Amino acid sequence: MKTLYFITGSQDLYGEETLAQAAADSKEMAAYLSEKLGGIAEVVFKPVVRNSSEALAVCTKASADKECIGVIMWMHTFSPAKMWITALKALNKPMLHLHTQYNERLPYDSIDMDFMNLNQSAHGDREFGFICTRLGIKREVVSGYYKHADVIEKIRRFAQAAAAVDFGRGMRVAMFGNNMRDVAVTDGDRVESEIKYGWNVNYYGIGDLCDIISGVTDEEINAKMSEYSEKYEMNTDNTAAVREQAKYEAALEKFLARENISAFTDTFQDLHGLEQLPGLAVQNIMAKGVGFGPEGDYKTAALAAVLCKMAEGRTGATGFLEDYTYDLPEGGETELASHMLEVSPVFAAEQPKIEVHPLGIGGKSDPARLVFEGITGEGIAVSMIDMGDRFRLVCAEITLVKQPEPMPKLPVARVMWKLKPDFATGSAAWIYAGGAHHAVVSTALTADDIRLFAKMTDTELVVIDEKTELGAFEQQLEMLDTIAKIRR
Ligand code: MN
Repeated sequence: MKTLYFITGSQDLYGEETLAQAAADSKEMAAYLSEKLGGIAEVVFKPVVRNSSEALAVCTKASADKECIGVIMWMHTFSPAKMWITALKALNKPMLHLHTQYNERLPYDSIDMDFMNLNQSAHGDREFGFICTRLGIKREVVSGYYKHADVIEKIRRFAQAAAAVDFGRGMRVAMFGNNMRDVAVTDGDRVESEIKYGWNVNYYGIGDLCDIISGVTDEEINAKMSEYSEKYEMNTDNTAAVREQAKYEAALEKFLARENISAFTDTFQDLHGLEQLPGLAVQNIMAKGVGFGPEGDYKTAALAAVLCKMAEGRTGATGFLEDYTYDLPEGGETELASHMLEVSPVFAAEQPKIEVHPLGIGGKSDPARLVFEGITGEGIAVSMIDMGDRFRLVCAEITLVKQPEPMPKLPVARVMWKLKPDFATGSAAWIYAGGAHHAVVSTALTADDIRLFAKMTDTELVVIDEKTELGAFEQQLEMLDTIAKIRR
């Protein structure tokens, strides 16, 4: 299991008794938190740090430990912070600075100087915080008694974000073909994506997939067909078209396993050797947590995989969606998000129907796809764009709503939502920020989770929410551009 190091700071000045007590307390706290994290990561107690060489040793170890996804640090006693400088410069894992103490209440009857010297995180954590700030270290500070529910929830979110960042390091992403010709926002610097996030993004010819497709057996297709009939309603007589998608999915699964791929893209402009654009096949795979981006959008595909990892164990849906069209009654503006075919069934409010319809674009046979209405609830839409000198995350809070009327002629799955704080502000802010028409939408994650991811990966983030005001938002964008220019 992945681990979070629990690192307690102290110093040499205290006697053996105080240090032994600090160690015993920390061990108990680490075990408590480990249990509360419920399998996201094991919180591992590390010997109390007394001096700069011990600090360097544990931080170097955490940085080199492949199982370690981050560190939780707190100062049980005072810990003079110059001893942390070299160590913190060597630390390359996400840090949670837990500002807490072993005791919940002051023992008013018995408190004396010994107690004060042992339990002085109010003092030691400020000294530690100073040196982190002075070194410019991005970290998450969580304050409060470590057994309180809100503190545990914050640690849990940190652990899930850290697990997702860790998952991204070394993640392999396949692009079948390149990105759609002439489209700007789906393009990006793949080398920089690997430097910054560890996403290893590579091109594959669609022929690589066709070779596997030609080897798929009838038994494998039949197995897929029974999976489909268990999960979905068959609303077509064109079984041959559905079997074609089943064949694609079986082949895609083999390819993903063989190449150790966690996210992939395709494009309707490069389907040589395929009879249909993969629809149902991709939809069913997306529901299993594999990242997907259409039209060669590797950033959305990779981000979807990473955010699915972050959302593991939570209720709600996560996956790619595209801004498509609007319903614009004054004051009641609603967006309809969908795609040509590829909407993940995790967003279905009802049992999805398998249907076969013509697809005007791409010049291929009628593809089978899942059609459904979308779920409702609070969510976020997240877009990653390449600004040339940096990546930017745009995160908008949205409210998914029930479609107000049936759409009997729309042959694709769809999800509808309202923007915050209102349509005019939310959509203009997204456009000012340069947000794409592709996003990863999640009802399992919140803007706070994306903030953590941005912090851990040092990615620029702008959030559009209930408090967004366009004047201030534009000023924020201008400031971010100015800072980037100065850094260049
Ligand atoms: Mn698209």
